[in-house]
Amino acid sequence: MQVSHNYSLKTHNTFGFDVLAEHFTRSANVAELQRALAWAKSRQLPVFILGAGSNSVFTADVAGLVIQMDFRQLEFLAPNRTGAAVIAGAGVDWHWLVQQCLQKQRYGLENLALIPGSAGAAPIQNIGAYGRELSDFLTAVEILDRTTGDVRLLNHEQCLLGYRDSLFKSDQGRDLIVLAIHLNLAVQDKPLCHYASLAQSLDSAGIDNPDSQTVFEHVCAIRRQKLPDPAEIGNAGSFFKNPVVSADQLKSLLSNHPEAPHYPQNDGCHKIAAGWLIEKAGWKGYRRDRVGVHADQALVLVNHGGGSGQQIATLAADIQRDIEQKFHIALEAEPGIY
Ligand code: FAD
Ligand code: NAP
Repeated sequence: MQVSHNYSLKTHNTFGFDVLAEHFTRSANVAELQRALAWAKSRQLPVFILGAGSNSVFTADVAGLVIQMDFRQLEFLAPNRTGAAVIAGAGVDWHWLVQQCLQKQRYGLENLALIPGSAGAAPIQNIGAYGRELSDFLTAVEILDRTTGDVRLLNHEQCLLGYRDSLFKSDQGRDLIVLAIHLNLAVQDKPLCHYASLAQSLDSAGIDNPDSQTVFEHVCAIRRQKLPDPAEIGNAGSFFKNPVVSADQLKSLLSNHPEAPHYPQNDGCHKIAAGWLIEKAGWKGYRRDRVGVHADQALVLVNHGGGSGQQIATLAADIQRDIEQKFHIALEAEPGIY
């Protein structure tokens, strides 16, 4: 097992924060992962599991052992009555997985194209975009339980997938390491394209009945146009979840701001666009120190270069306080802040 010491995580987090991992290693299979966990345990060190660092904000050097998940297996199973199973190791790059599935005529993931990160982190916040979520396809997750050392399969229900949420974010799930994800994908090419900006993009190209490859291309094009590329300006995508509020809270917001975008949920609550609240409060394009709020995407906090996780965390807390004061709505950070 190869362990690096005082290892820079600058290229392992999409904010590009220059923090050090006290110890760093990669694990490509269960035996390597078990060796790494035992190494940390024998030294009484904490362990941090890292994918591609696209949903992680490091505010300081990381104590203990950082294990980057490098499980790369990818299996396509023969179709059955309900679709076709795909099994991807935790270290598989998510966007590459979406591309491979399309090439093998396994459909559904095209709306989730260009989401950065690893397959293993996808269930952690149940990644979603353009009208689809991982939960639409996830049948099971292979995990290693750090408390017992057991390797087992959790089924869809056991993963408690919600809006940018899952078992793995809860106290009961924090010791579970995702080894692989099991998906059930369609073998018929019938993409879902009702999401407004996707429908508009297809419409303006004069496309009525797109195939999944076309949806994939349009999703990629919209994202490249709308979202800052972490390779150019450090960020972790949407910094806040869209808040879900009660009917009474929505009524109170609309009485002052009838134009506020809102979307009904199945349980009678309503989702409010966090980006709209932040823009309305005047934060869009705001800069402080070496960090700020993106000039075109109010939901994206950015590192202009040389900024720190501590500066981002302070800015995020100030935005949360301001939104609470102005709209009486609590914003919750989407990435993990460490
Ligand atoms: P990391 O940041 O490495 O890890 C995230 C969390 O998961 C950490 O707590 C980590 O400890 C834990 N973790 C990682 N791997 C494992 C594992 N194998 N087992 C257990 N725990 C693990 N998200 C969306 O939902 N929709 C989007 O459209 C979207 N767009 C984005 C656009 C940009 C430009 C960026 C930068 C981010 C975007 N995100 C989006 C957020 C991010 O891409 C996802 O959350 C992604 O799944 C994170 O993957 P990662 O491997 O980088 O996770
Ligand atoms: P958008 O289309 O401008 O919409 C703003 C917000 O309104 C979105 O976050 C979306 O919630 C919500 N919304 C829009 N139409 C909806 C509908 N019909 N039903 C329910 N909710 C609806 O958003 P955008 O910023 O351009 O992003 C496009 C998609 O990419 C969104 O799905 C977004 O989640 C995803 N994305 C996510 C991240 C991330 O880091 N998490 C980063 C970039 C983009 P939802 O978020 O629930 O879709």
